[in-house]
Amino acid sequence: MAVRPILTAEHPLLHKKAIKVTQFGDSLQRLVRDMFDTLHAAQGLGLAAPQIGVPQRVFIVEMPPEVDEEGHEVAPAERYILVNPEIVKTRGEEEMEEGCLSVPGYRGLVKRATYVVIKGQDLRGKPVRYRAEGLLAQAFQHENDHLDGILYLDRLEGADKLWSIEATEQIRVTT
Ligand SMILES: [Zn+2]
Repeated sequence: MAVRPILTAEHPLLHKKAIKVTQFGDSLQRLVRDMFDTLHAAQGLGLAAPQIGVPQRVFIVEMPPEVDEEGHEVAPAERYILVNPEIVKTRGEEEMEEGCLSVPGYRGLVKRATYVVIKGQDLRGKPVRYRAEGLLAQAFQHENDHLDGILYLDRLEGADKLWSIEATEQIRVTT
């Protein structure tokens, strides 16, 4: 288990385009394992490699398990690993609330597509393609932005779209 420190918004690496992954070996596997450890420790929804100081085009998203009214798990957590991702289709637009592990203590309202198709590669370099809507589509767009050096702060349309929150509210909603 290796939880790595998460860089915050002022770090220059978070404002740079990440580099395409060309090696699909052990070091990529280790990177992704550390990313999941870090994501779990931070109780986030998604994490991009640049957020832990690795400027490579990799991100992960973990959707929490679905539970019914009695608290029984009806669908397991879903894990997504995207290497060299590319959003190839978007549909709709909605203002969505979001946070970021690199912007602790804040949330904001950002316009995102409501539906996306994303393609990329898995850990072994095999092509993958996912269709997503709602929260998952939002997470894909947020993480993909990180690989291009874009934070949600860069997409805010006004200062009134950003507000500070208590640390306890941040759990499970930040990417
Ligand atoms: Zn983020």
